[in-house]
Amino acid sequence: MAVSKCNRLNGALIKELLDSVESVLFDCDGVIWRGDQAIAGAPEVINSLKKNGKRVFFVTNNSTKTRKMYADKLAKMGFNATEDEVFGTAYCSAMYLKSVSKLKGKVYLIGSNAMKEELLNVGIEEVGTGPDPITGVQIDWANVPLDPEVKAVVVGFDEHFSYMKLNRALQYLSNPECLLIGTNTDTQLPLEGGKAVPGTGCLLKAVETAAQRKAQVVGKPNHFMFDCVANQYGLDPAETLMVGDRLDTDILLGSNCGLKTLLTLTGVSTLADAKDHQLSGCPDRLGMVPDYFVETIAELLPALQG
Ligand SMILES: [Mg+2]
Repeated sequence: MAVSKCNRLNGALIKELLDSVESVLFDCDGVIWRGDQAIAGAPEVINSLKKNGKRVFFVTNNSTKTRKMYADKLAKMGFNATEDEVFGTAYCSAMYLKSVSKLKGKVYLIGSNAMKEELLNVGIEEVGTGPDPITGVQIDWANVPLDPEVKAVVVGFDEHFSYMKLNRALQYLSNPECLLIGTNTDTQLPLEGGKAVPGTGCLLKAVETAAQRKAQVVGKPNHFMFDCVANQYGLDPAETLMVGDRLDTDILLGSNCGLKTLLTLTGVSTLADAKDHQLSGCPDRLGMVPDYFVETIAELLPALQG
């Protein structure tokens, strides 16, 4: 029997859903906060879930912060949260390189200091953070000195991204043994007031295009993000709920991993997007249809306090 999808979550259904899960994974941007502003009621929802005995985790594709930085941001906004509950792509990429790639060598990093820190935390050295300029003429660029210990190029969010960093990445990737890893493919980073800036997906596409290679992407919707949490905490997919604002990352991750899924409409995707996927009948798009939707996660609060 086909299970009905994309249902409005309200009334008794909220309690029923929450009673059926023991863990809840939350995306951050567009779900519990927007930029530096908490979504109204979100801290109370998270804190009440925990009081009700649920395990809560934060799963974000944003690579600009370490787990510690996320824990500090969460605490400042009134969320009861610890470092161990945060799974961002800075941390998860480091875990990926260590546990899946089993990297023996350094990383050429197009990314932030936060990524550098998470790599160092698992014992991986990097080169490349900051502007990393190259001088001379084109033939000099193509013969730029390379660190022979670099065995992977990792691409995350990098405000210093430039033609010369792209060039350096290409020179490393000309060696077919050099791995290409991306944190995520999000094309835009939504900000307050409907504004946005280019996301890591733009930088990754540039590197993939230059190197004529496809990156291995660590972030949502890749299974690895869930595995990272599930392996450490022994999560049962059938008793886990994924809450997110993006159909192509959060909801698809949930579908890929057999989780229950809840779309919140405080971020990127709209209900019309979800319905379009549902009506398309296309198997590839059905994974982007959530089980349930709410306007905001604040709607969960009455069921938790009742
Ligand atoms: Mg989001």
